[in-house]
Amino acid sequence: MIQTNVSLRPFTTLRAGGAAERFTIVRTHVHLCAALAQAQAAGPVTILGWGSNVLPSDAGVPGLTIRNEARKIEILADGEVVADSGCGFQELFLKAAQAGLAGLEFAVGIPGTLGGALVSNAGAYRSAISKHLVEIEIVHEGQRKWVRPGWMEFSYRNSVLRRANPPNAAITRVRLRLETGNPVAIYDAAREFQRQRISKQPPSPSAGSFFKNVEDQAFAESLDQLPVALKAAGVTPAGYLIEAVGLKGHQIGGARVGVRHANFILNVGGASATDIRRLAEKVAKSVFDRFGVQLEEEVLYLGDWSGFRPD
Ligand SMILES: Cc1cc2nc3c(=O)[nH]c(=O)nc-3n(C[C@H](O)[C@H](O)[C@H](O)COP(=O)(O)OP(=O)(O)OC[C@H]3O[C@@H](n4cnc5c(N)ncnc54)[C@H](O)[C@@H]3O)c2cc1C
Repeated sequence: MIQTNVSLRPFTTLRAGGAAERFTIVRTHVHLCAALAQAQAAGPVTILGWGSNVLPSDAGVPGLTIRNEARKIEILADGEVVADSGCGFQELFLKAAQAGLAGLEFAVGIPGTLGGALVSNAGAYRSAISKHLVEIEIVHEGQRKWVRPGWMEFSYRNSVLRRANPPNAAITRVRLRLETGNPVAIYDAAREFQRQRISKQPPSPSAGSFFKNVEDQAFAESLDQLPVALKAAGVTPAGYLIEAVGLKGHQIGGARVGVRHANFILNVGGASATDIRRLAEKVAKSVFDRFGVQLEEEVLYLGDWSGFRPD
């Protein structure tokens, strides 16, 4: 069933943003592929997982938005897994761990779907989803096909589907290969990652890290106060730069820069998408003015932002 003018706020972890012009929820792979094939022929289509990495414009999202709840996971022989793109990333970890398969421990605490994880090459603790792929099924220009991982052009928190003008394609199913592991060690590693997360993550609605970390060896080495390990890795956490410009706790409307973790933008009560983006723009400008580096959003802006003004 397709509904019109459906608020996307409850479908995002930031709990902000406007309405989808048309909206539907799909719960099976067959239904997802059929809906995509039809929608791609007719106009713009937005696919939404758990909405944990997006900010829909207050002005709304034109065309059809498909919320993907197709979530079947099959564990095959030899460590191979075939999963619908709408399965929960953590559920995938749990199913794999129950089967004694290791490699997805980092997924614990990443609140999205497998499809959303692939689009941004989600990762944590020096692991990323792109390492475990065999093949990806997509619907591209209405055609269903399996492609090699190279099609996605993965890099740090990036893929071809994050480009300004991405291919008219969506991920429907994924084949992964995981390694056999000791279930106790798998759960122990996941528990430790979860423990570290809980100590850092604020409880208010957010989309996780708002900006990508800066990967630039010379820049990292130029920062006197940056810990030695980060200098050696050539990585400057966005949160380090935001804290350095004094914006921890800064607020615009209902949007606030996290105090516990400065790279989180929080909805502390009734934030509009405009509040959140204005705060993000202020953060990015302050960092640029002080350090000369342009922070790049990890969060994706959806819909019509043509009327947006930074202040
Ligand atoms: C508290 C918190 C902690 C987080 N921690 C991490 C972390 O440690 N590491 C990390 O990498 N991320 C993290 N995130 C960000 C986010 O959870 C991940 O990027 C997640 O993988 C997004 O999945 P999703 O289903 O919510 O995607 P959505 O937000 O629904 O969508 C993201 C983008 O992918 C597109 N998309 C979604 N599904 C498909 C599909 N099937 N085919 C094509 N396009 C699709 C959407 O159109 C959108 O452009 C965190 C978020 C929160 C709220």
